[in-house]
Amino acid sequence: MNIVIFGPPGAGKGTQSNLIVEKFKLHQLSTGELLRKEIRDKTNLGNQISSIINSGNLVSDEIVGNLIEKYISNKIYKSRLIFDGYPRNLVQATNLDFLLNKYDQKIDIALKLSVSLETIKKRILERKSLEKRADDKEDIAIKRYTTYEKNIKPVIDFYKKSNLLKVVNGETTISQISSEISGLIESI
Ligand code: AMP
Repeated sequence: MNIVIFGPPGAGKGTQSNLIVEKFKLHQLSTGELLRKEIRDKTNLGNQISSIINSGNLVSDEIVGNLIEKYISNKIYKSRLIFDGYPRNLVQATNLDFLLNKYDQKIDIALKLSVSLETIKKRILERKSLEKRADDKEDIAIKRYTTYEKNIKPVIDFYKKSNLLKVVNGETTISQISSEISGLIESI
């Protein structure tokens, strides 16, 4: 089984993906994590993309497409992937289908974690006293949220049309969200 999980930055996608990974023995593929690793390792790609990521904009579809193909083509992960942070726009959603099809796989469920901008802001404010440059971070977080919203609508329609979309309320507790998600996965 392959899963797509999406939701705005700060929605708790990472936490929920980890729980799904443990419970259903999947492998998490977080494009944000992969890109940050390139930056930490100071690779050519990392140097090329650091300013884009730091400003809250999206990296090119080609770059992330190449990164995920390495995993989709690897037999170890065949039909055991949870995509976290990909696809972010319609081109990526179409490309994901194309790549999965190329390696004889498909998406079985697309989980959308819904969280309002107000809640995201509140979560950032709660963390504010713990971190430096919190105002900068708040601005970037809002930029990330609006970038996400702008691009994700056609992705939602794409999965709705293929009957794969399940919407989960991301405003409840971690364990409530997790058990709702588990139930949805178990029912496919
Ligand atoms: P995330 O950890 O998923 O919030 O991603 C952090 C940042 O990495 C994003 O703000 C983008 O700059 C970049 N990124 C992650 N995934 C993608 C993607 N699928 N397409 C383009 N850029 C991405």
